[in-house]
Order: sequence, then structure tokens, then C-alpha cells
Amino acid sequence: MSSPDLTDAEREAVLSVLNTPNLSMGPYIEAFESALRAFTGAKHAIGVSSGTAGLHLCVRAAGIQAGDWVITTPFSFVASTNVLLYEQAVPVFVDVDPRTGNIDPAQAAETAADLARGGAAARRRLPRKGCAPGGRLKALLPVDVFGQPADMDALRDISDHYDLALIEDACEALGAEYRQRKAGTLGDYGVFAFYPNKQITTGEGGLVVTDDDEAAGLMRALRNQGRAPGDTWLSHTYLGYNYRLDEMSAALGVAQMSRIEGLLAARERVAGWYAERLAEIAALEVPFVAPDTTRSSWFVYVIRLRPGVDRQKVAERLAERGIPVRPYFLPIHLQPYMVERFGFQPGDFPVTEDLGARGLALPFSGKMDEGQVERVCRALQAAL
Ligand SMILES: *Cc1c(COP(=O)(O)O)cnc(C)c1O
Repeated sequence: MSSPDLTDAEREAVLSVLNTPNLSMGPYIEAFESALRAFTGAKHAIGVSSGTAGLHLCVRAAGIQAGDWVITTPFSFVASTNVLLYEQAVPVFVDVDPRTGNIDPAQAAETAADLARGGAAARRRLPRKGCAPGGRLKALLPVDVFGQPADMDALRDISDHYDLALIEDACEALGAEYRQRKAGTLGDYGVFAFYPNKQITTGEGGLVVTDDDEAAGLMRALRNQGRAPGDTWLSHTYLGYNYRLDEMSAALGVAQMSRIEGLLAARERVAGWYAERLAEIAALEVPFVAPDTTRSSWFVYVIRLRPGVDRQKVAERLAERGIPVRPYFLPIHLQPYMVERFGFQPGDFPVTEDLGARGLALPFSGKMDEGQVERVCRALQAAL
């Protein structure tokens, strides 16, 4: 489905770490954070062991606690919701824009208003069960789905109005731009992820960016077992975690960041080849790029089959031709543990469910050549 883009520069960087005694908390994590600060323009960058770890640190830094409500969407990778559950907070789902799959700001605003009103108005926005009355709305957690930024200015208006933290899950969107501003820097906190299928990889890894000095200090302490500045190795001011990014991973990240523009351009080129070849096929829709997305950053290439097309059958026919495809995303609210805990039902978020039922991720990486894209598209057309 995907393949990391690695060269001798990456291999040498990782090996060079092994020639030193510093395998954790050495110079490479600092260099990697510095590269991300330079790239995004954020004041602070905090490297962590995964995107999920980064999101969890943001939840802690935003002061989100047990019973607090956070507005987010079920059309995402599960981590964006799971980090709320780690703190016993309650995800208040709103549905997504059918074109982009990103949070619908109008529905987010209505939901925030209802939650602020309380009583029956709040009740109808909350999950059926698993959520005690008397919560407070603390944050918005939008996701930049498939590499396209959410409508962050509209969300900022909501967060300003209700005094909410704004956590941007930019784990799929390194390099994307919204109204000429970099994804990840559009909220109070932004998180990137570096699993091997992302725009850049560190193996496992993630990173938080923020302009907030106090939050950055807290997140640095929390990723390092709760050690505040001045704490010794065995004294811990906070309940923290081991969310550190090791030096081998950071060195890989530094090498990847040194060629970030080339990596993004290669993905853009592959997406362009797909768009050209697929535009004419009536049984599917190619990804929609919103006018506010002044720069796309392609994480995956997800097409939508027209209603009535049997996705399973298409996937099987492609598999027979040696071409892997995946349904994308399976809605979070219908995952078994979510149904059990919160009582969600099919039909609760119809746009999310519709996109989830029709979306098909095609093989995608910056290393694909035009011939490979051609082969996938021919096979897809034949399968349809
Ligand atoms: C990849 C991803 C994450 C974090 O992933 P990790 O595997 O923990 O690095 C979080 N949210 C979204 C939307 C993602 O795609």
C-alpha cells in the first residue's frame, strides 16, 4: 500500500548514531525539533515516540480531565479519539463535510452552542451512555483528514467564543497549507506522526508544535516521565510517560527533513497522475481539494466509489491482479469498544458512515512511477 522513501543519507544517519554512546536524548532529537520549528515556524517542537503520544500530551496540556467534553469527528484514525478516552474525557462527535471528510464547522458551532445551553440541548449531542451529566466543554480536536487541513479559521472562532483549547491532529498533513499557513500551526497545539506510511518517517515517532511556552514545558516534562527542569533522574514532579523519541529515529527524521520538499513534491506528482487517469471514470470520485487548501500534502490517495458499486468485489478483483487497496476509514463510533462504552449506533453520523462505506485507498507513495500508477488505474477500471 505504501513504501517509505529512504536513501543512503537515512542509512548513514542512523548508523552514525550507533557509533556514539547517545541512543536517547542526544543531539539528533534537538536537530530534529529544530528542523520542524524551521519548517513550520512554530516556536516549540517536541519530538515524541508516536503521533498518538503527541496527541495524548496535548490532551494533558489542555487540562482535559475525566468527564470533560471534547468536540471531534468519528471520520479519523482511532488515535484522535482514543487519547480522550485515556483521560476518561468524552468525545462529542459531529459529522464531517462530505467533500473533504473534515469536521463540519457549522455542526461544530451548533454542538458547542447546545452543550453550553445544557439540559436537553446538551443531552442530544452527547453519547447515549458512558458519560456522566455535568461535564464541561473543554476543547475542539479537528483532524486534517488525508493531508487536507480542516477549516481552522472557522474552528478558531468557535474556540475563541467558548474559551476552548484547539488541538489540531495534523498527523496526516505535514507540509499542507491552509490559507498559506502551515498545517499543525493552526490551533493551540498541532501534532505530526512519522509512521512509515506518513509524509516523512522516523520508524515510529511523532512531534508536537505549539507557541505556548508553558504548555511546551509541561509536555517536555510529561514525555520524560514527568521530570520538570531541575528534577533529577529519579525525581518526578508530574505523573508522566515514557514518550521519548530515540536518537536513531530522530536521526532518520533529520535526514528525511533535509529532503522534505522533494518528498512532498514526489507525492504530489503521484497524486496528479492518479487524478489525471481517474477523472474520466464515472463510477468513482477523485479526492476533492478545498480552495482554502493552498497546498496539498498527500498522505493517502482515497477515491470514493459511486453509491451502488460493490467495494468488496472491486477490492477482490484488484487483489487478484496483485493490487492492494483498503477501505478508509472505518468510522470510529462503530468500533466495537466505542459501541460498548458509549452506545453509538449505525446511522448516528451518516456522512461519516457513507464516506467510510465508499472510500478506497489506492497504493500510494512518493516512490511510485507513472507506469505503476497506470497499472493500478487500468486494473481499477477493469474491476469496475
Ligand atoms: C497516523 C495518525 C495518528 C498517529 O499515529 P501513530 O501511529 O501513533 O504515530 C493520529 N491521527 C491520525 C489521523 C493519523 O493518521
